[in-house]
Amino acid sequence: MTQTRRRAAEQGAAAASASTPPPKRPCAAEDCDEEDDEEETTRHFRIKPGSRSMNCPICVLPFEAEVYMCNNGHAACPRCCLSMSRKCGSCSEPIGDVRCRPLENLLDEMDTDCKYKKYGCVESVKYTQKRAHEAACPRAPSGCPVDGCSYRGLLLYEHVVDDHAGAVATVSYLRSATVTVHKRAPFRVLAEPGRGRVFLLLNGGDVLGGRSLSLVCLGPRPEGNVDGAESIGYKMEVRGGAPGELMLKGTAPCVRRLEGFQPKKFIFVPDADWGSSGTVSVSVRLG
Ligand SMILES: [Zn+2]
Ligand SMILES: [Zn+2]
Ligand SMILES: [Zn+2]
Ligand SMILES: [Zn+2]
Repeated sequence: MTQTRRRAAEQGAAAASASTPPPKRPCAAEDCDEEDDEEETTRHFRIKPGSRSMNCPICVLPFEAEVYMCNNGHAACPRCCLSMSRKCGSCSEPIGDVRCRPLENLLDEMDTDCKYKKYGCVESVKYTQKRAHEAACPRAPSGCPVDGCSYRGLLLYEHVVDDHAGAVATVSYLRSATVTVHKRAPFRVLAEPGRGRVFLLLNGGDVLGGRSLSLVCLGPRPEGNVDGAESIGYKMEVRGGAPGELMLKGTAPCVRRLEGFQPKKFIFVPDADWGSSGTVSVSVRLG
């Protein structure tokens, strides 16, 4: 080693030893957190699922991007501002014009667990996108609609095909299938083998002088479909009527349970059309 090189090497060693941090003192757990301070500022906060303070006090759903407040500082989500006619639910002051920016900013920095963690969803989701994620979460379980059956899980399609084979009709994408609906049955279970989806052809008794037929998908919305849009197209038509008379085309809403569900579109089938057998034949085509 030449002298120049040796000197450079020694200097390097000296520099290295000068930059070596002093040995750490043993620390209590709370002291150790200090070391992470810089990193902590770049991380999102985490919030426990079910924490109420980050939910709209009126509808009790998690706040999303926009939060409004009244003159007294009570907060509400945009939907509730409208549904309460822009009057605060706590003090009746006007609400809906003033955004609560500090809370919005805080919410924007928060992450939380998906509520279907126990079913295997490991995603950490932004708090403000919690509702949208959970509506489309592929790990969300669905309950079996068949009367007296308590199945709830991720394999609803397999369950209905295996355990209720006699009660299930098969429907397909871009192909019409004929399904018999009994006037007294509240729904007919439909299974789509291609995508492993379960649908219900609902037979509602909520209309005078007949029944209302509509289609609903049981399960999460298709992924990538986060803004409330629904994209499972279908066409169904009651056989025997004048062409196009008892026909419905649309997109099937996706729900996990039927309680509280009200179809927005349906075919009205008058009592007289159900015939002596009390049934109608409906052709159903997905896509
Ligand atoms: Zn609300
Ligand atoms: Zn108020
Ligand atoms: Zn999830
Ligand atoms: Zn079942």
